[in-house]
Order: sequence, then C-alpha cells, then structure tokens
Amino acid sequence: MNIHEYQAKQLLKGFGVPVAEGVAITSADQAEAAARALPGPLWVVKSQIHAGGRGKGFFRELTPEAKGGVRLARSVEDVVRNAREMLGNTLVTAQTGPAGKQVNRLYVEDGADIARELYLSILVDRAFGRVAFVVSTEGGMDIEKVAHDTPDRIHTLVIDPTAGVTDADVAALSDAFGLEGTAREDAKSLFPALHKAFVDKDMSMLEVNPLIVMKDGHLRVLDAKVSFDGNALFRHKDVQALRDETEEDPKEIEASKHDLAYIALDGTIGCMVNGAGLAMATLDIIKLYGAEPANFLDVGGGASKEKVTAAFRIITSDPNVKGILVNIFGGIMRCDVIAEGVIAAVKEVGLKVPLVVRLEGTNVELGKKILRESKLNVIPADDLADAAAKIVKAVKG
Ligand code: GDP
Ligand code: MG
Repeated sequence: MNIHEYQAKQLLKGFGVPVAEGVAITSADQAEAAARALPGPLWVVKSQIHAGGRGKGFFRELTPEAKGGVRLARSVEDVVRNAREMLGNTLVTAQTGPAGKQVNRLYVEDGADIARELYLSILVDRAFGRVAFVVSTEGGMDIEKVAHDTPDRIHTLVIDPTAGVTDADVAALSDAFGLEGTAREDAKSLFPALHKAFVDKDMSMLEVNPLIVMKDGHLRVLDAKVSFDGNALFRHKDVQALRDETEEDPKEIEASKHDLAYIALDGTIGCMVNGAGLAMATLDIIKLYGAEPANFLDVGGGASKEKVTAAFRIITSDPNVKGILVNIFGGIMRCDVIAEGVIAAVKEVGLKVPLVVRLEGTNVELGKKILRESKLNVIPADDLADAAAKIVKAVKG
C-alpha cells in the first residue's frame, strides 16, 4: 500500500525526522490560508499523487510551457495562482503512464534553501535478506538515469537486524554522502530514525529523494515516498487509515474485497490462474507467444464458485482485455467447480472476447464435460503451451 508524500512526512515527523512545515489542501479556496500559515518568502506547491517524477511531469490540460507538478512560489498570490492551475488537472509523469493521474490534493510547504540534493532509500535487500540503505550523492530528479549510466555512484549498506543502525553505519553513510559539520551531526539521529520508522511501520520501501543539505547546514527530508507491506497492514490501524482508494486501481480494490491476488498490467490478455507460481508461468508463456498479459490473478487454492465469478467480472471490466485465458491446475481446487464458476460468470457478465480454458487435475473430465455441455463459446486447450498459442492467435487474429 502506498501513501501520499504529505502523509509520509507526517508519519516520519513522529519519529523525529526533520521535514518542512506544510498544509494539505483539496481546493484552491484553501490555498491562501495555507500560504499565510507558513512563513515564506519561499513556498512549494506539490501535487499529491501516488507517483513520483512530479517535478518533471506536465499537466495534460495545460500548455507544454506550464511548469511541472512541483512548483516554487515566491508570494501568497503565486501560491494561489499555481494551486488554481494544478488542482483538478491531470499530471503525467514518467511513473503515472501516459494516462496520468488527476491531482485532487496539493501540499503547500515552507520552501527550503538547498545546498545539496542527496538520494536515500531504505528497502529489504533480497540478496542479503536484510534491510538496506541505498544512497547516492546524485539526488534530485534523475536517480533512474544515475542508476543506469553511473551505477558506481550508488552505494548499498546492509543493516544487521540485531544491532540496528550502528555508529559505524552512520559514519559510513555520512562518508558516502560527504557530510560534514552540522549535517554530519544531524545524520546521527536522522539515519537511525528513518530506519526505526521503516521497521516499526513494516514499510517495504522508504525513498527520500532528495534528502537535502540546506544552506544553514541542516539535513531535511524534502520528498518522501513510502510503501507498506500489505501482509503486515493488519497490525497498523493508523497506517490503514491513510489509504486513499481514489489513487488505487478500482479493479485491485474489488479484488482485495474477494481476497483475490490481482495486479493490473498493461496488456490485452486477461488471465485467471490458481497458484502464484502457475500465474507467473502463464504471464511468461503469453509473452513467449508474442502477446502481453492484462493482469496477474491468482484465485487461490480453494476458490469457490462466487470467487471465480468475481474474478471473471474483474477481468472483463478491463476495457483493454481482448481475450481471456483460464489456466487451472486442480489440486485442492476441483476442475468442475472452476467450470461452473466460469459458466456462472459468463452468464452474469457476458462474454464479448475469446475465452480459452485449460483445465488439468482433479475432476478434469467432469470439468471439461460441464464446459462442453454449456454450449458456451469456450476454446478448450490441452496444455499450457497449447492454451497460450490459442489465446494469442484468437486475439491477434
Ligand atoms: P518529485 O519530482 O515527484 O520527486 O518531487 P520532489 O518533492 O522531489 O521535488 C522535485 C524537485 O523540486 C526537488 O528535487 C527540488 O529540486 C525541488 N524542490 C522541492 N522542494 C523544494 C524546496 O523546498 N526548495 C527548493 N529550492 N526546491 C525544492
Ligand atoms: Mg523526489
């Protein structure tokens, strides 16, 4: 689960992390009061969407010359004017995809005088199986380019879970950043505080880009992007309360209500599969046969007819779906239940695209018989390769 920048900063502030003062607003009428609540003479007006790259983004409705989704303002009037221009419009960034995201909320912040922009993130490093800091002196808006062109400028520091962030770790990070004086002093509390926030709140990623050294020498978290481990959300009611469903894919929200593991993708072939491994293999083989999957969907081991119907409804609600591949290995799951679920779903939501069904395992003959006798326009497949070839052919013609 992701949250907005202003929420992330609020949360980090609770751990003693230095952030700017700011006010979140949802209408331009609130902009003047927000600006007046801050000292000036520099303000920053920041689009709150669940995507990065805002500074370099553009608003679809505005002329190309209109500046990005993060803007500096030098007067209260300037804040108000920018707020009017940004709110309600669609911000397109490298991370939103071409469709962009509507900006429904702005964060008006007290502007900082920046001396240096650094990059810091905390994540779980799979290779080490530990929490790690990833840092670079090349912070700001082009970290992807740095990672690609000059990967030697990005450093990873793995944290020992029993020791936490040690003095030696703080020194190593400070050296990597080239911190001195006041900034180096600030780092002694900042790095452990960020790590504590990450661990205590079960984050899966905490990205601060940029972490800044200000002209007065102090460190400040200027931008914060936080994702939480969905499997640990049950023990963080405070984090759950930060959820903004308007930022999430409605199909994914619907799927989570039915306890379906669904992730929307960009392709045209909708997939319904049981088991995460088989679902991954199905995505791979669709690509191997030259098409792109529209989603990942694991209906789970013991899916009911209702669950299959819900899954089918979610897949067909995606306008990009030009064909559907059902790939079920009946172990705990019985093929006849899947067949009945598919039929019920087709009767309920209709079937406007080709449907290939590959069943294998428990009660497979019964499942196939049910599908045959349903007289539905189902294309049967014998194995996974056959199924992939058939659905790709049906979609591509
Ligand atoms: P992102 O583009 O979505 O990553 O948004 P950021 O919050 O990182 O802001 C983008 C850029 O705006 C930063 O890299 C800074 O260069 C600039 N910026 C943001 N806040 C301030 C500020 O308080 N003062 C100044 N001078 N620049 C800022
Ligand atoms: Mg940023």
